[in-house]
Amino acid sequence: MTVHSHILLRVLTLLLCVLAFPGCVAAGREGPLVRQEAPFPTIFGPPAADTAEPVRYEVLRGDFHMHTVHSDGTLSPAQRVIEAWQYGYDVIAITDHGDFRSYEEALPTAKTLGILLVRGMETGLSGREHLVALDFSAGYQPRNPHQWSETPGQPQVFYQDEWRTLAAAGAFVLYAHPHVGLRDQMLWGIGQGLLQGIEVKNDVVGSEWNTVQSLGTWWYPFALDWAVERNLTIFADSDVHAARGPIEQATTLVLVKDRSPQGVMEALRARRTLAQFNGMLCAHEWVLKLLMASLVDVNLTEMEDGKVFLRLHNRGPVPLTAQIADMPVEPVTLSGYQQVLVGLRRTPDVVTIIWKNLYLRPTENLTTTYPLVALARPEQVSTR
Ligand SMILES: [Zn+2]
Ligand SMILES: [Zn+2]
Repeated sequence: MTVHSHILLRVLTLLLCVLAFPGCVAAGREGPLVRQEAPFPTIFGPPAADTAEPVRYEVLRGDFHMHTVHSDGTLSPAQRVIEAWQYGYDVIAITDHGDFRSYEEALPTAKTLGILLVRGMETGLSGREHLVALDFSAGYQPRNPHQWSETPGQPQVFYQDEWRTLAAAGAFVLYAHPHVGLRDQMLWGIGQGLLQGIEVKNDVVGSEWNTVQSLGTWWYPFALDWAVERNLTIFADSDVHAARGPIEQATTLVLVKDRSPQGVMEALRARRTLAQFNGMLCAHEWVLKLLMASLVDVNLTEMEDGKVFLRLHNRGPVPLTAQIADMPVEPVTLSGYQQVLVGLRRTPDVVTIIWKNLYLRPTENLTTTYPLVALARPEQVSTR
């Protein structure tokens, strides 16, 4: 390549970068970098066995799969952290193919900006299943980083041996973009307790890599079924290689007891995550119920003239679509932090709501029931 064409390429790359994502070029040059903030309320869970105090959870936004210049990505580790900060993430793992030096390189920037960083790497069988390993010890030495063999006696390292070595280094392992399905190798990993999580959404693969078009997007709905049936932690990750675009990013929400990398890993191991993408949340039913108990208030409100309303308050940033069962009313979408009054023709004792964008299975919405014993006038309704 000549010097001129090299310069031309750089200018074109810069131009594309500015068009795609102004912030990535603005870093350190001009204009402020702005963080998108949309906080969740504290989530209160049932008390632990030895105490009467409810357990308090903080909802963190996570992305546990992304690349840098240390594999096939275009941003440096520090740029990835700054970008994640701008996009409102609280915790990330940088997961280059067979390489985890990004962790050490990104750590100072992460500490400065208050982003939690988890050590990560993408690995797996050659050309087949990709695995994302998280939180393994710094002393782990991948013997054949991304080309584990399926059978013993190959030039590469046998996958069962390397997976055990990775587990011995403390790794939490998830199945990335599970396009190959559940072959014997993954079933072995699940059986051994070595495979603990799975991506139901991966932004980068888009409509490729055996994703299925369902509910208005391309994703792995069958992986949600597997996660439920085999008790795996549910992830939605960006797998971003270039700069992030100005679109909704796949996000893994994590319910942590402690805002620290250790707190995040405790939550991942306990399966307390939700996959957020395309205006939906997908999660284990108990996690959705735990979240919703603190995210939405449902009350009855009676006006002076006797008209009765169901009062819904979304205390978090995620839009929620509620269909009230057995009532002749249209589904109502509660925007972030919004309160809505829905007129009712009769006063119910109990209201059941089907949450149309919350999924515990690809074809099954979360349903919650609220006893409404006390009828309160507006001034008596607690606004908390
Ligand atoms: Zn991959
Ligand atoms: Zn990847």
